[in-house]
Amino acid sequence: MNLRIPGPIPVPEDILEEMSGPMINHRGPEYKDLLFRTTDRLKQVFETEGDVWILTSSGTGAMEAAIVNTLSPGDKVVNATIGVFGNRFGEIAEVYGAEVTTLDFPYGEVIDLDVLRDTLNDEPEIKAVLVTHNETSTGVTNDLETIAKVIKGEFDKLLLVDGISSVASLPLSTDAWGCDVVATASQKGWMLPPGLAFMSMSERAWEAHAEATMPRFYFDAAMYKRYYEIGQPPYTPSISTMFALDLALDKLMAEGIGSVFERHASIGQFTRDGIKRLGLSMFPKDESTASNTVTAVSIPESVDGTKLLGLMRTEHDIILSGGQASLAGRIFRIGHMGMTTTDDIQDVIDALKVVLPQVGFNGSKVG
Ligand SMILES: *Cc1c(COP(=O)(O)O)cnc(C)c1O
Repeated sequence: MNLRIPGPIPVPEDILEEMSGPMINHRGPEYKDLLFRTTDRLKQVFETEGDVWILTSSGTGAMEAAIVNTLSPGDKVVNATIGVFGNRFGEIAEVYGAEVTTLDFPYGEVIDLDVLRDTLNDEPEIKAVLVTHNETSTGVTNDLETIAKVIKGEFDKLLLVDGISSVASLPLSTDAWGCDVVATASQKGWMLPPGLAFMSMSERAWEAHAEATMPRFYFDAAMYKRYYEIGQPPYTPSISTMFALDLALDKLMAEGIGSVFERHASIGQFTRDGIKRLGLSMFPKDESTASNTVTAVSIPESVDGTKLLGLMRTEHDIILSGGQASLAGRIFRIGHMGMTTTDDIQDVIDALKVVLPQVGFNGSKVG
C-alpha cells in the first residue's frame, strides 16, 4: 500500500521495529537517558535554545497546550487562519475564553501582511497571534519568517505557531524567527507513528505562562519542567513511540537537517511537475506558496472526486486524501512528508494517468 495522506505517513521499517522493544520504567535511569537524548536533539531540529516538551497526545493537544500555557480568559488574540487547521487553533482559544479576532484569508492563499498589520495597529490590546506555518488542509505554506518579523519586530506580540506539518520537513528557525511556542506532532514529518507531540517554549512564553490563568492540568508546562529536572516525564509517556523517536532522530541527524529540508523541497517540486504534466492544476493560488509536505490539487468540474479516490485505492492501492470541510469534493491531497521517494510519487502520477479518464477527466494532456 502507498499511504500518501498528510499524516500518518509510512514509517520506515527499522523505526517500526524499534517500537517492539520491551517496556522500561519511565521513572528509571534508562528513560532518563532517553528523555535527555531525545530532547537535546529535538531542540536542534526546532533550532531553539529554549525548552521543548514531549507530550503524549496528537498535534491538537500541543495546540491546546500552546494556548492554555500562555493565555488567560478575556485575552485578545488574533487568529490569522488560511484553512481548517488555522480555524481549529482559533476555536481552541475561544473555548478557553480568549477574545478571538479572526482574520480568515481565502483557502488557497497565504496570510495578507497588510491586513494583519492593520489589525494589530487598530487593536493595541492584542496579546498574541496564532499562525499556521504549513496549512495542511489547503497545501499552502505561509512565509512564517516574514510574518514573524511583523508580529515580533513591529508589534512585539506573543507568537504561537502550529508547525505540525512543517517542523522537521520545512525550515523553521524557532529562536531566530522569534516563535514563542511551536507545536508539532510525531505522525507528520518525523517519520513516526501518531502518539507524541512536541512543543517549544521561549523565555517570553514562560513569562506569559506565569500570568496565564486558563485552566490547565495535563498540559501544564510547569509540570514538564519540574519533572524534566529529575529526568522524568510528569505522566506515563508512550514509551514505544519514544523508542521510535530516538531512532528517527538518529536518522534525521545523520542525514543532516539541511538535507532533509532540501529533500522535501525537491519531492514537492517533483510532485507539482507530475501533476501539471497530467493537465491538472494546483489548488494554491500562487504556486510559489505551494507546500513541500502536501500537494493540494484542484479537482476539475467534470471529475467525480469520490470516485477518483476510490479507484486509486481499490485499483492501485494508493491512499490519497480528499478535501476537508468546504473543500470536500473540490480538492484532493497527496502527502509527501517524511521519507518519500520519487518512486512513491511517480507511482501516484502513473495511477492518476490511468484513473483520471475513468472518472470524467477530459484534459488533453493525459495519455
Ligand atoms: C495534522 C495537523 C493538525 C492536527 O493534528 P492531530 O495530530 O490530528 O491532532 C493540526 N495542524 C496541522 C497543520 C496539521 O497538519
